[in-house]
Amino acid sequence: MSRSSGTDRAHELKDLLNAYSYEYHVLDNPSVSDAVYDGLMRELKDLEAQYPELITADSPTQRVGNELKGGFKKVQHSTRMLSLNDVFDRSEVEAWVQRMDKLMPGRTHEFFADIKMDGLACALIYQDGLLQAGITRGDSFIGEDVTNNVRTIANVPLRLRSQKGYEHLLIGRTEVRGEIVMLKKDFAALNERQERAGKPTFANPRNLAAGTIRQLDPKLVAERPLTFIAYDLQRDDPSDVPTHMAAYEALTAIGIRRNQEAGVFTGLDAVMHFVDEWDEKRHKLPFNTDGLVIKVNDRAQYADLGIVGKQPRGAVAYKYAAEQATTIVKDIVISIGRTGAATPVAVFDPVQVAGTTVQHASLHNADEIARKDIRVGDTVVIFKAGDIIPQVESVVLELRPKNTKPFIYEDALREQYPDLEFERQGKDVVYRVKGMTGPLVLKRALEHFASKGALDIDTLGEKNVVALVDSGLVKDIADIYTLTKDDLLKLDRFADISAQKLIDAIAEKRNPTLARFIYGLGIRHVGSQTAIDLANHFKKLDTIGTAKLDELKSIDGVGDVVADSIYLWFDEEENSQLLAKFRGLGVWPQDVKAVGGKLSGKSFVITGSLESMGRDEAAEKIRNLGGVFQSSVGKDTMYLVAGGKVGASKLKKAEKYGTKVINEQEFLELL
Ligand code: NAD
Repeated sequence: MSRSSGTDRAHELKDLLNAYSYEYHVLDNPSVSDAVYDGLMRELKDLEAQYPELITADSPTQRVGNELKGGFKKVQHSTRMLSLNDVFDRSEVEAWVQRMDKLMPGRTHEFFADIKMDGLACALIYQDGLLQAGITRGDSFIGEDVTNNVRTIANVPLRLRSQKGYEHLLIGRTEVRGEIVMLKKDFAALNERQERAGKPTFANPRNLAAGTIRQLDPKLVAERPLTFIAYDLQRDDPSDVPTHMAAYEALTAIGIRRNQEAGVFTGLDAVMHFVDEWDEKRHKLPFNTDGLVIKVNDRAQYADLGIVGKQPRGAVAYKYAAEQATTIVKDIVISIGRTGAATPVAVFDPVQVAGTTVQHASLHNADEIARKDIRVGDTVVIFKAGDIIPQVESVVLELRPKNTKPFIYEDALREQYPDLEFERQGKDVVYRVKGMTGPLVLKRALEHFASKGALDIDTLGEKNVVALVDSGLVKDIADIYTLTKDDLLKLDRFADISAQKLIDAIAEKRNPTLARFIYGLGIRHVGSQTAIDLANHFKKLDTIGTAKLDELKSIDGVGDVVADSIYLWFDEEENSQLLAKFRGLGVWPQDVKAVGGKLSGKSFVITGSLESMGRDEAAEKIRNLGGVFQSSVGKDTMYLVAGGKVGASKLKKAEKYGTKVINEQEFLELL
């Protein structure tokens, strides 16, 4: 991004983040998720790192919390209540450790880590063991005095517990810092009560906790079950608590709840192990969390490391992969699928979502783009839950550049595919290539036919497909079986070896498994699993072709839409001709044999020629008895049937894979 557009963008981001921050910290009613806030904050931080002159005092990167709401007394904190720097993966934790190593050469660090609670930070001040004040974090320097409300929290002791060895903490000033949260179960119960009373329910425990503690009426606070969980203990004499772990032990001793999961870790590997362990387990915690806090355990070291901006150098917040992120739409490209469907795809600046880097997402169809009004140049919120492919959830309208235009789908189709015509039939939301023919559709179909999950034809990748179709050598997918080496040598792409390689690779896949062949045909809605289900049910390709619609629908995993699509595919004259062409060329899928045949679990390769039968007949016999016929010796080949003398290289391969070499007589006995 250029300096001037970077400046504009930074200003917009600052304004928007400040507005979000106000909603979150002052109104306790955010309009976007934390992941969206964090994503935009990250972008602003990156811009400020690139152009440091953009850093201003009012930048959200420089401020903790927000201005304070009226109604409460303002109190100055004894030491600032800071925010934490986010890290998102191991390399960022490593970089943090390296930065500390640079500042403290030769000193090693022991780490302390705890769960990061998602609540509202609060300091409890105890004087001679008695609760004197409860103060919110506020803007980190000055907080709000919420003592009366804090007193209503059941697990906040009004008097500290005295325990042997810790009596000194009941003398003088003890400050306990922690997070006020609403436990998930309390939140659920409260919402249930609201619902029963016909009142509106609350959106999330964090904002409810924050909103509650800043209520002016303590009676109302007392009705809402809040919990305090501590993460720090401070004394005027720092030697009272030499390490963070010591502080946690002291907290338990004086009767204050803290997480028992926290611990001390030596070395980065141990820390990362803790991080990985809680990635899954955190969902079972009684409160919401957005990660872990990792600190240098030694508090003298921690203090020496100091503060930069609003964050201590000696600690980081490890944030787990969020299922949402923000990014900018660079382009909207329409891709043509193997069935001729035109699918719009948004292309992004690479961004991490749910642990993977995402660079594009399907926008599904024209209606979807229009409904969400997604434009090139827009900042968008994308999400990815579990294994699901990334989706664009919404547009951040506040960050829309002034010169954007709505995306007109038909214009884009014309622009990106001037040679093709598209149509949209009936209620179908998808534009498809008219007539479903044309070289582009054939290229996709052939690429799919040859792909790993389908016939897996070696070296028949995108570039060779383009060459074959563009040269006119291949006019439908069956044509590849008519190709000769001489045909290929006429094309620039091929030399002697590469031509032979492709011819051999195609020849090797004349009798694929039924499931692979069905999948390879590219019938709309028939993915690889449906193809397996069809193969297992029908056993032969011909029986699928003549199946009644009801029988198709009766198969597990085949719904109405899929059944219709299969039925219509076989009904189509053009497709019948294609299958007849395959058959005429001797290209046909193997029937699925009943398991438990005499040769089930056994695989064979035949080399040379047999006296008693031809190769095809032998292959058929093997398959009929449940065995597998293979074209070349591989690691799963059990028998190499030698018709005559076996070549040295084949023998070597058989030896390597432990394949047993048998003669024709032995083969006939097995049959
Ligand atoms: P932070 O992420 O910088 O973390 C620091 C805070 O973590 C501490 O002040 C402390 O209160 C808390 N904490 C919880 N458990 C802890 C533990 N075990 N040890 C130490 N500290 C612990 O917090 P922040 O400064 O409040 O950062 C802003 C947060 O608020 C971000 O998560 C951001 O997404 C969210 N936010 C959201 C919006 C929105 O609109 N959704 C707006 C503003 C801020």
